Amino acid sequence: MAALNNILKSITQKNPHEAEYHQAVEEVFESILPVLKKNKTFVDEKLFERICEPERVISFRVCWTDDQGKVQVNKGFRVQMNSALGPYKGGLRFHPSVNQSILKFLAFEQIFKNALTGLPLGAGKGGADFDPKGKSDGEVMRFCQAWMMEAYRHIGHYTDIPAGDIGVGEREIGYLFGTYKKIQNEFQGVLTGKGTDWGGSYLRPEATGYGLIHFAHFMLTEVDDNLGNKTCLVSGAGNVSQFAMEKLLQEGAKVVAFSDSTGFVHDPEGMTEEKLSHLKTVKNGERKSISAFADKYASATFTTKGSKNIWSIPADCAFPCATQNELELADAKILRKNGLMLLAEGANMPCTPEAINYFQESKVLYGPGKASNAGGVAVSGLEMTQNRMGRYWAKIDLEKELRAIMKNIHEKCLETIDKHHLEEQDYLNAANIGAFEKVAKAMLAQGTV
Ligand code: NAP
Repeated sequence: MAALNNILKSITQKNPHEAEYHQAVEEVFESILPVLKKNKTFVDEKLFERICEPERVISFRVCWTDDQGKVQVNKGFRVQMNSALGPYKGGLRFHPSVNQSILKFLAFEQIFKNALTGLPLGAGKGGADFDPKGKSDGEVMRFCQAWMMEAYRHIGHYTDIPAGDIGVGEREIGYLFGTYKKIQNEFQGVLTGKGTDWGGSYLRPEATGYGLIHFAHFMLTEVDDNLGNKTCLVSGAGNVSQFAMEKLLQEGAKVVAFSDSTGFVHDPEGMTEEKLSHLKTVKNGERKSISAFADKYASATFTTKGSKNIWSIPADCAFPCATQNELELADAKILRKNGLMLLAEGANMPCTPEAINYFQESKVLYGPGKASNAGGVAVSGLEMTQNRMGRYWAKIDLEKELRAIMKNIHEKCLETIDKHHLEEQDYLNAANIGAFEKVAKAMLAQGTV
């Protein structure tokens, strides 16, 4: 036992000042400890230590010129985390908070998420501490071109295939893709999340949000319940959040609140298709705060970011879809007191470990992001296949495929619960253990590399 605990200690010591990375590693370690205790080969072969060490971390300078002609300098990264199951795959984040710790935590989570999809996908993550907010299209384009001028030599359609994440949507993917194509003089599927006229898959924009709600649907089916008429909170107002809300409307649920980095909107009358379309215009077209949404509807109130947050609104279900550690223990307690029965994560690591423990102990159905938000990378995997075949699949077929993948992930969790005698609906430990075993076995088979 002491030797096993030393594993975690030594990983923490080897990666100092990386709080988010430690948090992600500790969660998985706690889940898989019983598996390590029973499997001497995994311990002797240092599988956990190997999984925690990125295969490669690329860090580089990104210089570009702003609209005033001034030179700007940013830090660019690509973390190539694990290629046991396939080429490195994972999004790019452009946000001022980006650093090595955040990208390593995201790349680490990606290993397990990608394993759960059942597709041949390794794991990576990247981005820059660049803030696209308030920048002109020209500035965003010049930044993307500068990022790719270095990154192109490290990625490739059979090596490493980035996608979007916070601050990287179709506009940024377009500029990145155009630059890569210009340098290589080849039209390759080197990025996913492309526009559907130039190699992108139908349903990729919707996939993470839709997949999340499919997963919640399967969690509820397991306890003979459904999303119909459930009051829901969806944090964020970006890609994942918008399509989670869209699918919730289709399932007959009532979305009463959403948020962004400026605050949250509470609308007791609930979201409608018309309101959601306006929200998309405000966020994706005008790129404004959600306060502009609330200005249009008498039933909607905007509260500026401060002492109160979205989690203070009573609801049956909550879907954090903004960013890491956005939901703390105090929020979890209020949500539970107000009657929360299900929480599924659209964002990566949105709940602190204390909040997760509280949900598990107080029997709130808890869907961990590695399982519940895997729909996005799954459809990215399908985009890679379509690019290799030189074909587009129909949206209706992709919808069926996404639902089947989310169902499969849910079933894989239930199988792991059974196999490892976990508590009923313990999706947290099931996702971590099921994915770890798969990746560990692949690494063992491929030898000490
Ligand atoms: P996005 O389109 O950039 O949207 C992010 C949203 O979260 C925005 O509304 C943003 O507000 C809000 N936000 C960001 N930081 C915040 C903070 N500190 N406090 C409050 N709100 C904040 O990004 P996304 O693609 O939806 O990603 C959201 C989350 O899902 C991330 O954790 C990401 O890693 C995860 N995820 C994404 C995908 C995918 O396919 N995109 C797949 C799996 C997981 P503003 O609009 O004011 O900036």
